Amino acid sequence: MHEMSLVQGLLSQLHGLAREHNKSKVITVRMEIGPLSGVVIDSFQFGFDILSKEAPLTREASLVIESSPATYRCCGCGLEIETEQRPDACPACTETLLIPQGGDDIILRQVEME
Ligand SMILES: [Zn+2]
Repeated sequence: MHEMSLVQGLLSQLHGLAREHNKSKVITVRMEIGPLSGVVIDSFQFGFDILSKEAPLTREASLVIESSPATYRCCGCGLEIETEQRPDACPACTETLLIPQGGDDIILRQVEME
């Protein structure tokens, strides 16, 4: 599962941060995951729940995931459509060639540690 390796990457990043700042416990991890990132948020959360329990640093950590909306730009009329799901066609001119603008981010927003 793709999400498992992402969670593993996140956890090693957290261990690095904890070492750097001399912390021993992660309390909250805030992530932003865009709808076009290809990440299934439920799977990511599931992977985090399992893997975070394996290390004392992250055993009690809670994960907060924010999904940012994606924007599509219409090639016909230039309309920008902000949406959670890819639209089939532009609502203004029915053009079907829509180019995604962003929305593919996987960002570690904030980590609370003590
Ligand atoms: Zn259009």
